[in-house]
Amino acid sequence: MKGFEEFNLRNELIESIRGTGYSEPTEVQSMAIPIALAGSDLVVRSKTGSGKTAAYLIPIINNTAKEKGIRALILLPTRELAVQVAKVSEALGKRSGIRTVVVYGGVSINKQIELILRGANIIVGTPGRTLDLIDRGILNFDKVSYFVLDEADEMLDMGFIEDIKKIINVLPVERQSFLFSATIPSEIIELAKGFMHNEEILFLSKDE
Ligand code: ADP
Ligand code: MG
Repeated sequence: MKGFEEFNLRNELIESIRGTGYSEPTEVQSMAIPIALAGSDLVVRSKTGSGKTAAYLIPIINNTAKEKGIRALILLPTRELAVQVAKVSEALGKRSGIRTVVVYGGVSINKQIELILRGANIIVGTPGRTLDLIDRGILNFDKVSYFVLDEADEMLDMGFIEDIKKIINVLPVERQSFLFSATIPSEIIELAKGFMHNEEILFLSKDE
């Protein structure tokens, strides 16, 4: 099994990965990280608990370190999942000078606005609150070069498809997009075709 050194990542990112206690990449990380680093869009099916979060965060943090502005948008279906992913993003991005801000509904928007205005590089959010912040002119995605739809099957089940399409409409066309899910029903393939270009498809597990 290869270590994380094999990916030619920035030193400070390797240190952060060590800091999280990961010694070797999981299967989905071994497969997805080189493809993402090479610049491709990606659709990945891999089971829950297989390490999908770091599979997309590592390439994003490696390629956006020290760049100003919001460089990545990661959408999750629930507050709990968004908070969980934001914690991993903070842990992996801290030494690279990456600021992560998490946005979700059901709580006051003002504190989230304050954090965004202080300077964010990665936004992790649920679709409704993300759209609200776009509509208020707080979230500006003109510099986004990475878009991630995580837990895409849950997103569809929860009826977020129209919100997601509206959000994709305000993203730059020149970007990389990643879709991660434990299951990939045909609607997800349809959705992916609508916003990805020459995507690589990795099916690592049977549909759950
Ligand atoms: P998924 O999104 O596929 O459900 P997560 O990204 O949430 O999976 O990761 C599941 C668990 O595995 C988390 O507790 C995470 O810290 C751990 N993990 C992820 N990558 C590694 C790794 N390379 N080595 C050890 N543990 C890892
Ligand atoms: Mg996950």
